[in-house]
Amino acid sequence: MKTLIAVLAAVVTLVWGLDALSGSSPAGTHPLWIARQEALYLSGLLSIALLSLAMLLATRPAWLESPLGGMDRIYRTHKWAGILGIAFAAMHWLVEMSDDVLKASIGRAGRLPKEKFSGLFEAMRDLAEDLGEWALYVILAMLVITLWKKFPYRAWRYLHRAMPVLYLTLAFHAAMLAPRDYWTQPAGGLLAVLLAIGIYGGLRSLLGSIGGKRTFAGEVVAVRSNAVDVTSVRCQLGNGWRGHRPGQFAFVTFDEREGPHPFTIASADHGDGIVNFEIKALGDYTRRLPTAVQAGQAVRVEGPYGRFDMARCNAQDRQIWIAGGVGITPFLAWLESLQQDPGKTLIADLHYCTRDASRDAFVPRLQGLCAPLAHIRLYVHDTRQGDTLKADALDIRRRAEVWFCGPAGLAAALRNGLQAMGHKVRFHQEAFEMR
Ligand SMILES: Cc1cc2nc3c(=O)[nH]c(=O)nc-3n(C[C@H](O)[C@H](O)[C@H](O)COP(=O)(O)OP(=O)(O)OC[C@H]3O[C@@H](n4cnc5c(N)ncnc54)[C@H](O)[C@@H]3O)c2cc1C
Repeated sequence: MKTLIAVLAAVVTLVWGLDALSGSSPAGTHPLWIARQEALYLSGLLSIALLSLAMLLATRPAWLESPLGGMDRIYRTHKWAGILGIAFAAMHWLVEMSDDVLKASIGRAGRLPKEKFSGLFEAMRDLAEDLGEWALYVILAMLVITLWKKFPYRAWRYLHRAMPVLYLTLAFHAAMLAPRDYWTQPAGGLLAVLLAIGIYGGLRSLLGSIGGKRTFAGEVVAVRSNAVDVTSVRCQLGNGWRGHRPGQFAFVTFDEREGPHPFTIASADHGDGIVNFEIKALGDYTRRLPTAVQAGQAVRVEGPYGRFDMARCNAQDRQIWIAGGVGITPFLAWLESLQQDPGKTLIADLHYCTRDASRDAFVPRLQGLCAPLAHIRLYVHDTRQGDTLKADALDIRRRAEVWFCGPAGLAAALRNGLQAMGHKVRFHQEAFEMR
């Protein structure tokens, strides 16, 4: 995630630098006015570049899953590209506002001459300037409610739908107000590509065509509440479903008004269109789920997505699989698929962290699934009994690979613990939080 954003920012800065170095200012221009102008261009370019990336990633591009490490990571990159894009937009606005300060301190005399246009084009530029300013105020408000986690997710999701409109407004602003000489230089070429990418994402979002080709209609065939706060939902997706790899997830819509929620497919693929979800009551909707979803009702499933895929486990490395609470779902799919292929040579320690093993229906299920798999050792860590998993409890003697799905706090504690002990392990983590 960080690499992609850093590379994009570096390319934009380089191209801006080429333009800044090749340009010449009229004699007598004050260096501070030149610095303001260039800061305005750089912040504007960085902002539109990152927002364009965010728009592209919002289209859930499955072809980017492999290079970016899965759809959960694509969403995180989307989020951070959006946040940084808005931060640069705010900076762009502040630089624009510095006009008055400069006039007061160094005077107007050394200003750069304004580019002159006429007629309809000039009117469009004025409109783009005003619209850009208003779009910025709205997008800043969106940023505040995005970062304010207490703002209800459902309301946030509705408001978030305004983002493509805001992006298209900012794209219009950028295209109209980019300096004329950009269009004959690499900066203009880059800006055109970025705008084309972002507009593509924005329009797909507005037209509601995201994920369409991967969406399948099916039926809920069974609903069971089999563990504390966890509902199992079994769905039949028919022949259209092209199957999934163990550990992948899907966006599931049980109720059109509620919209899709991401859930891991907690079962292996048997080629029969059946998928299971284990859904924990973690919020408003999932708490209502046991009564809201019934066998026989329609369901829409978009997917599969994700790279938390057992096929990516390196059999040469010691496998340490760690799940916290409902984070066990991808491992259920892994273990189920291993039943079909018990000879698979993965040797793994599976650590399952639970609040109360005596009331947790996943525990007997895991014991049942692991029993025929001699090469998988199951460890249950029961918080109620004072057994909290720590890094030093992980048996890391040689090259190891950790696959983690669970609370972000537990992942951070384990990563830090392993680092402090001097272990260099590959740590794969499924991100359950998208906002
Ligand atoms: C890749 C992935 C796999 C997941 N797998 C499982 C699973 O197997 N079992 C399980 O119980 N949970 C899983 N989750 C978490 C699950 O999606 C949320 O707990 C659920 O959507 C909460 O909805 P809510 O309305 O009840 O909660 P709210 O209180 O409304 O939201 C709680 C949090 O859940 C997330 N969330 C809520 N709605 C959505 C949505 N429509 N899209 C994206 N995120 C949302 C947000 O981060 C939000 O802050 C997974 C999440 C991800 C990203």
